[in-house]
Formats: sequence, C-alpha cells, structure tokens
Amino acid sequence: MRDPGPGQQPSVQSSLTGETPGSLDSDRRYESGRSSSTRTLEAAAREAARCLHCSRAPCAQACPLHPAIPLALHHIAHGEVLAAAVEFAIVNTMPGICSRLCPQERLCEGACWRVRTRARVDSGRPVAIGRLEAFATDVQYEVEADVQRQIAIADSGKHVAVVGAGPAGLTVAELTRRCGHAVTVFETTPRPGGALRWSIPDFRLAPTILDAHIAALENMGIRFICNFQVGRDATIDDLLASGYDAIFIGSGALLGITPDVLEESLAGVSQAMHFLERARPASVYPRPPDWNESDLAGKCVVVAGDSDEALDCARQAMRKGALHVICVHSGEEEKMGCRHQSLQDAMQEGVWFLHQAVPVQFLGNDAGHVRAVVCWHTVPRLSRRSGSRTSPSTETASVTVRADHVVLAIGRQVDSLLARTTPGLEIDSTGRIIAGTSGATSRPAIFAGGDCVHRDGLVVTAVADGTRAAVAIDRHFGGPAAATAPL
Ligand code: SF4
Repeated sequence: MRDPGPGQQPSVQSSLTGETPGSLDSDRRYESGRSSSTRTLEAAAREAARCLHCSRAPCAQACPLHPAIPLALHHIAHGEVLAAAVEFAIVNTMPGICSRLCPQERLCEGACWRVRTRARVDSGRPVAIGRLEAFATDVQYEVEADVQRQIAIADSGKHVAVVGAGPAGLTVAELTRRCGHAVTVFETTPRPGGALRWSIPDFRLAPTILDAHIAALENMGIRFICNFQVGRDATIDDLLASGYDAIFIGSGALLGITPDVLEESLAGVSQAMHFLERARPASVYPRPPDWNESDLAGKCVVVAGDSDEALDCARQAMRKGALHVICVHSGEEEKMGCRHQSLQDAMQEGVWFLHQAVPVQFLGNDAGHVRAVVCWHTVPRLSRRSGSRTSPSTETASVTVRADHVVLAIGRQVDSLLARTTPGLEIDSTGRIIAGTSGATSRPAIFAGGDCVHRDGLVVTAVADGTRAAVAIDRHFGGPAAATAPL
C-alpha cells in the first residue's frame, strides 16, 4: 500500500467527480455527495489536529462500530491519510458511505469532548470526524482505485446466500467472502445497493461511490443475482435445499406507512421511497418501463415527515422544479429526526417547514387528484406553575395547505412475504424478524439484520448488524471469524 506521507501530498481533485479543492470550513455543501474530496490535505490535517486524544474516546464509544477515531485522526494530522483510511475500514465495510449518511451530531461528533469544552476552547465545535473520514476514504479510492480486494485464505467449501443487497447484506457478503466462503446475493431490484441506490439521492451519495463499492465486491468473487425476489421466485427453504449452507436476510423495510386517517388513493399522493425512485435520472438508474418521472414543475409539494428521507424528498422536489415545497411534521424544529446538515441544506435550498402540524385529511378535486392537505397545527402548552413548556402538545387549529403533490415519509414497515413463506421464522407484532445480537433467528442457519429486524434505519447500524452476523455465520461453519471486525 502506498502512503503519500506529508511530503507527497496526493491530488485531492476527485477522479470520480472532477471537483476542485476548497477550504475545509468554507465548503459545507454535500452536492454530488463528494464534498470531502474538495478539502486540502493541509486543512484536513489542521482539523484532525484539534483532536484531544481523550483516553476513553467518547466519539468511538458513541459509534455502533467503535472505530479507533483518535488513532485515525492522529494519522491524518501527520499526513498519513491512507493509514487513517485503513483504520476506519478495520471495523467498517463502507466508511466512505457511512461518513456521508451518518447523523454524526447524534453519534461520534455529538459525543466529542470538544463539545464539552464550550467556554474554554473554540466555541465547543466538535472535530469534523465525518468529513475527515470521507476525506481519507476519497484519497484512498483515488490513490488505490486499481487495487482489488484480495481473498487470502482458501475456499471453505461453504456457500452463503444473502437476501437483499442493502448495507447489511453487502457487509455480510464482504465479510463472509473474506472468510473464504462462496457468497451469492439476491436482490429484488435491477441493481445492487438497496436503499443506498434507490432511496438516497445523488446529491447526498454520488452513485460512483456505490458503484465502486459493488465493483470491488464483484472482484472478490461475490455473485449478484438481481431482479430475483426471495419469497416469490424461490423460498428460503428452496435456497437451503439447493445447497446453501447459511442464509442472511437483510431485506430491509420497503413498504411505506399511511396513517389510518389519511386516504392514499388520491392521485398525486405517493410514498417517499417510490417518489425518490422515480426522481432518479433514468440514464443512471435502470427501471421497469412503468416507472414514470415525476413532473413537479411549478407545483406545490407537501412532504409529511421530519426524517432524512423526508428532507431528501423535499430537496428532490426542489430540484424537479417545484414552485413551493413544505415539510410538515408534528414536532418542534429542535427535535427533528433528520441530520442537522440536511436541515441546513434544505433551508438554504428554499424548503419551507410547518412545525408542530399533523396532516389529518387530503382534499381532492373533481378529477380525483389531491389539491390540499388539512393539518392540525399544535403548539406547546404552557405550564401554569413554572411557565415552562410541557408535553404533550395540544391541538389548537386546523391549517389547510395547497398541495399538487403529497409525499408521505412517516415511516416504513416490513413486507410480510418472507415471513409468510418461511415456516418457523418468528416475527414480532410489527412484522419484523426476531433476531438475537448475533443475528441468529428462530431457524437454524438463518440470520437476519438491518431494517427488517429493527427500526433504527441508520446505515451504520445495518453495517454493525451485518458485521456481527458475518462473525456468527463463520462460527456456525466452525471458523474463527478471524477476518471480520471484532464488535
Ligand atoms: S472525543 Fe473528540 S477530541 Fe476526544 S478523541 Fe474523540 S474526536 Fe478527539
């Protein structure tokens, strides 16, 4: 491995996007999903040098993968960017992706000791761990773009089937392959990537990053079978009977939720996932012929929800030429579920927000197309004794918002197909698969992780699930799981 070192600064103009260098602090935008590649090595080193190297590294403790963040930052501060990239990759199969999609303010950066030194040291700004991780990974991709991941150990003779090519499934595929097992990944959609490909817009994650990751996995010998839905085209038991020794289910939660009070039958009302799929550039994302581009030019769009997915929909609608985009959600601005950066970007791009409002009715025109959304607007109640805010909020008035298109981004649920076609696979009351910490399910040799098991919805949590499941699968085969990350 070549390390540029402090005297051999690599060009940080991305070979994938052709972006030009800028300063670390001035360019906060994540356009094209490769903002970190615009940083100079000097600026990155200066930022990394702000790390206090806390003895217990609360930043690392706050991350589900527990990376050696202080050590990686030490490497960057000394110009050893590739060493930092390796350090991040020891516990994370996709650091370049997590660094762009993680809510760092709730994880590593939220726990950074710099935040607690507010009055004494530089306004309590955390070390920009996410951006530095993305920077190190970008440099690694650029310098080592031609390096293929090697499988150092002999073929084990075992074969793993992975159901779903999202972050959990891709992690299991990579780590079990590294252990010497043959791996086949079954994906329902035309291309691997799961939510990373179909739900995350290009302005948050450039498709070249995901494509490079998939290509590296294919170079490892992992086989992808797309347009194949397990449960419909073959059952889990069919796969076991055909010779697979273990199965990992990482099929995600792909069905949108519609509250009982709302009618989804009006034209112009869509679920977030379908909206984001259709907003994709057709040239980049092949799709079935019945998938139409959304035409939002000059339209008023209402997005219900406060998650990153909701804000992705709102920002995509702005890019599709919408006249107004209003995000409606029940909570307060300070308690929104999205990343702070996503909120800042959405506001800068012109998205409006109606806080503390709950959609309760869609109004349609004579043609059966949505024309407005009725919301209950709520405000916090004042406490008589202290004057401070108390919860829950009270309903105060109805507000009618014009809407030519409505996007529902208020949660997802799991498709019951796999549970219905897999006897003995236990699920909970919400339809999610019941799995232990290692991913073991109620059926021997069947493991599960990611959004089909829990509601977390974070890529980094799915990677952690996949890592633990890969260790468990290797141990199930009698292997030491030596090549996988020790979580
Ligand atoms: S908490 Fe912040 S300052 Fe402390 S080791 Fe982590 S990044 Fe460095």
